[in-house]
Amino acid sequence: MYRTHNCGELRAAHIGQEVTLSGWVQISRDLGGMTFVDLRDRYGITQLVFNMDDNSDLCSTARKLGREFVITATGIVAERASKNPNRPTGDIEINIASMEILNESKVPPFTIEDESDGGDDIRMKYRYMDIRRAPVRNSLIFRSKLAIETRKHLADQDFVEVETPVLIKSTPEGARDFVVPSRMNPGEFYALPQSPQTFKQILMVAGMDKYFQIVKCFRDEDLRADRQPEFTQIDCEMSFVTRDDILDTFEGLTKHLFKAMLDVDLPDFPKMSYDEAMERYGSDKPDVRFDMELVNITEETRGHDFAVFDNAEHIGGICAKGIAADYSNKDLKNITEWVMRPQIGAKGLVYIKYNEDGTIKSTIGKFYDDDTLNAWKEKFGAENGDIVFIMSGEKEKTLKRLNELRLEMGRKLGLMDGKVFKPLWVVDFPLLEWDEDSERFHAMHHPFTAPKKEDEARMLDGDHETMKSLKADAYDLVINGAEIGGGSIRIHDRALQQKNFDLLGFTREEAEDQFGFLMGAFEYGAPPHGGIAFGFDRLCAVMNGQSSIRDFIAFPKNTSGRDVMIDAPSRVDNDQLQELSIALDIKEDKK
Ligand code: ASP
Repeated sequence: MYRTHNCGELRAAHIGQEVTLSGWVQISRDLGGMTFVDLRDRYGITQLVFNMDDNSDLCSTARKLGREFVITATGIVAERASKNPNRPTGDIEINIASMEILNESKVPPFTIEDESDGGDDIRMKYRYMDIRRAPVRNSLIFRSKLAIETRKHLADQDFVEVETPVLIKSTPEGARDFVVPSRMNPGEFYALPQSPQTFKQILMVAGMDKYFQIVKCFRDEDLRADRQPEFTQIDCEMSFVTRDDILDTFEGLTKHLFKAMLDVDLPDFPKMSYDEAMERYGSDKPDVRFDMELVNITEETRGHDFAVFDNAEHIGGICAKGIAADYSNKDLKNITEWVMRPQIGAKGLVYIKYNEDGTIKSTIGKFYDDDTLNAWKEKFGAENGDIVFIMSGEKEKTLKRLNELRLEMGRKLGLMDGKVFKPLWVVDFPLLEWDEDSERFHAMHHPFTAPKKEDEARMLDGDHETMKSLKADAYDLVINGAEIGGGSIRIHDRALQQKNFDLLGFTREEAEDQFGFLMGAFEYGAPPHGGIAFGFDRLCAVMNGQSSIRDFIAFPKNTSGRDVMIDAPSRVDNDQLQELSIALDIKEDKK
């Protein structure tokens, strides 16, 4: 028998019992007469004691145990002289009478401890050792439990989990497809799903009524920080529902998951329109854990001969509370440089420092006297002791930059408590985005999203300008500034769907070729329907107050889209390519 117990379960109540444990050697300490070994498995760490006086051969073997050796050992549970209150098993240790080395280990390339000294790539290459570390292991266990809770809750609400195919035809969700050649159909390709969008809609036409699936999705995007080319969604769709039916259902799921996993009671989720989110936060995924809202002072600044402001479309700012006394000129210079980095792209940063003693220091003091600057205080909700930061320029860009600045100040001032959760629904997104470069409309969510009911007639009859103002029946769930989920009420009528494809620049043939099956299905009794998909990896990370999804994915890809453990992607041999009818122009010897 390899074990009577695991390494995390023995307590004072077991004292005197003979037990057998198996696991990995975390560390071995030789204190002359005694050798202490910390033995680790998935469940915890237990201290083993080898005593020279009891068995010198055994003790000598124990001295030679290296890190990550796999052993099995038998002995008697004893009370520890010096207890370790930080460990659940810290009251006891095991006096070992026999031990067998099951497998040796080379010296691991990084420390297998909570805080590892291993960089990302080395940890990913040896992910099996990384997963032995408690933070990664616990993240994966959390993920597993979250998936089980999701399934339980949705099944209780009559949702049916349906698996949709992985080898499909392209679904336009805005990214590139991964394609898979078909051997049996030379020259033709499948695409991996960017999401099961069209299938779940077809399932609604098929009368399944409530569908969900915890499902892998694939998007061949340039990897931005913390994006993965394959990721997981909790994908859902419902029939005969309004927007609010969907929001209620998934607010319910979210609340349930927070309660079951974290014992957190979430407040009701407020709804905020996209326009309001952009005005107040400069972002469609506002972090509402803290205020520091964007203030528009375009009108107030006009007519003071300050050309920069007079010529700008938008002038806005934020008020950072209580920092005037601590914020040195160096700090101000640093934050100015920060917003002027290419990633943010601001041309400069204006500040107004309202000192405690009532004096004012500002970069625009030449153009605006103290009375004027004092008059702005109310608008910003500023008091003496605060600093107001102002940016100007084209409206959309300025709002986005102010959002970045707001988040940076929030981080600096410690306003983003990882234990506080502030969810909200962002609703009423624009249906279409006009892209100046390609002179085309893009779907803001995806081409199957319905306009709001009151905009339907305008969509069918309106002119080009009208199309820019159409609102979609689309929504996002945002928690602590992260987009956790998004969805929409769908078009379920052939004519409207056709009109949307027209607007998006599809020719009739292209639309028919790519989505004829869906529009065809709409002609055979399609019920009104809508749905949502949650980013499952992101949900795991946000619930744990973490900004990265990496450690919630067992085998993630690096920022170049590579799996460095198995070394993929990789070349395949010529025969295989020929079988797939793929022409070769890469020389074999280049390998
Ligand atoms: N398929 C959409 C997405 O992946 C979600 C939805 O509309 O349900 O974002």
